[in-house]
Amino acid sequence: MQYQSTRGQAPILDFRGVTLAGLATDGGLYLPTHWPQLSAETLEGLASASYLETAFTVIRPFTEGALTDAELKALLRQAYGDFGHAAVTPLVQLDHRQWLLELFHGPTLAFKDVALQLLGGLFAKFLGAGDKITIVGATSGDTGSAAIEAVAGRPGITIFMLHPDGRVSDVQRRQMTTVAAPNVFNIALAGSFDDAQALVKALFNDPAFRAEQQLSAVNSINWARLLAQIVYYVYAGVRLGAPHRAVAFSVPTGNFGDVFAGYCAARMGLPVSKLLVATNINDILARALNAGDYSVGTVAPTVTPSMDIQVSSNFERLLFDLHGRDGQALGRTMQAFEKTGRMQLTDAQRAEAARLFRAERVDEAQMMGALQWAHANCGQLLDPHTAIGLAAARRAEADLDGPTVTLATAHPAKFPDAVERASGVRPGLPRRVAHLFDRAERYDRLPADAEALKAYIRDRA
Ligand SMILES: *Cc1c(COP(=O)(O)O)cnc(C)c1O
Repeated sequence: MQYQSTRGQAPILDFRGVTLAGLATDGGLYLPTHWPQLSAETLEGLASASYLETAFTVIRPFTEGALTDAELKALLRQAYGDFGHAAVTPLVQLDHRQWLLELFHGPTLAFKDVALQLLGGLFAKFLGAGDKITIVGATSGDTGSAAIEAVAGRPGITIFMLHPDGRVSDVQRRQMTTVAAPNVFNIALAGSFDDAQALVKALFNDPAFRAEQQLSAVNSINWARLLAQIVYYVYAGVRLGAPHRAVAFSVPTGNFGDVFAGYCAARMGLPVSKLLVATNINDILARALNAGDYSVGTVAPTVTPSMDIQVSSNFERLLFDLHGRDGQALGRTMQAFEKTGRMQLTDAQRAEAARLFRAERVDEAQMMGALQWAHANCGQLLDPHTAIGLAAARRAEADLDGPTVTLATAHPAKFPDAVERASGVRPGLPRRVAHLFDRAERYDRLPADAEALKAYIRDRA
C-alpha cells in the first residue's frame, strides 16, 4: 500500500513512512492511493468476530509491505489488551432507533486511546535501535493524555504536549501532568487550542528544525490514527446488520478525524446511510457543509473543549476527494485559505459531500437536553461531547432509516461538572484511574511563540 499527500508535492511513502512522518513535507496530509474493499462476504464473516479479529481484517491491507501478519496481530493484542471491556468498543442500546458506541474503555477514558495505543506500538516497532524521535503535539484535552499514555517510558521517544492554559478540564490536565516518565514534557500555552495547533504546525513547517529534532506528530493528521478508528465503525456496523442493513453514525466532531474514519469505512464498502457531523457552537464544519462557507471565526470556549476548534485539519482529506483527488489544485486552495482564513465550497462540492455527510450544530441547551433525556429515559450518563452527538442523532432521526449509532467519545467522569449540572448525578472516576487526584503535577507555562517553544524543546529533547 502506498500513500500520497493531499497537496501532491511530497514523496509517496509506505505505511512505515507515513506513520513516522505524520504531516507531509508539502504541508498536506497523507491518504492511501486506493481504498481496499470489504466485500459482502468479508462483512458477513465478521459477524461473530472479536474486536481484534475485526481490526486485523480492516487494517491489514493498509500495512502491507511494512508489517507481517504476526507483527500486526501482536501489536493489536498489545494495544487493546488493557481495555476495560471485553468487547473493546461495546454497543449500548438507548431506544428502538438510538445506540451508543462506547469508545472510552481505554486507559485515559476517551476514544483517542483506541488510535494512540496502537500508534505507540507502531512507533516503537518502526524505530530502529539508536533512532530518536521527538513528538510534538497540541491537545484540546483528550489527545494529550492518550498520546502521553501511549509513549511514556518508551526508549528513543521524547514527547512535548501543548495544551491551552486553563482550557482543559482538571481530570484532563491531571491525566497528562501526573505522568512521571522522564520522556514526557507538558506545556501550558498562553492561548487557545488553535494557537497551540498553529505553533505545532509552524515547527513542522521549519525544515531545519524538523530534521534536527526528527519531529513526529501524533495529532489526528497521522494516518495510522485514522486507520485504527475505521475498525470500530466496521465492528458496530456489522453488529447492527451490515452488509444487509445500512447504519447512520453521529460523531461529536472537532478536528474531523473521527468522522473521516467513518468516511473511510464507507469508501471501503461498509453500508453507511449517513455520517452526522455534530458540532458545538464552534461550527465551521456545519457552516462549510450546509452553506459552503469554510471561514475561520474565533473560538468560543464551551463545556465540550475537545470540540472547541475552528480549523479542522482533517477536513483537508475530504477536500482532496471533493477536488477530484487533484493535489496541485487543492494545494493552491489550501495556500489561499492559510493566507485569508476563508474558503468557499462550490455547490457541486457541497452536493457531493452531502451524499454522505450531514452537519448539525448543537448549542449548550440542546446538549444538556440530550444528556437529561438519556439519563431520565435510558438510565445512561453521557459526557457532554457524546451528548452533542446524541442531540444531533435525535434531531436527524425522522430523515433516516434504520439504527443511528452515536459515538460515545469520552467517559462522563472526565467532565463531572457539566454532567452533574444536567443530570443531578456526579459521575465517579472508574477505579483504574482513581489515583489521579493524589499525584503531583509537573508542567511548564510558555507564551504562544514558536522561538520560545523551539528553545524549550532543544534544551530537553
Ligand atoms: C477529540 C475528541 C472529539 C473530536 O474528535 P475529532 O477527531 O477531533 O473530530 C470529540 N469528543 C471527544 C471526547 C474527544 O476527545
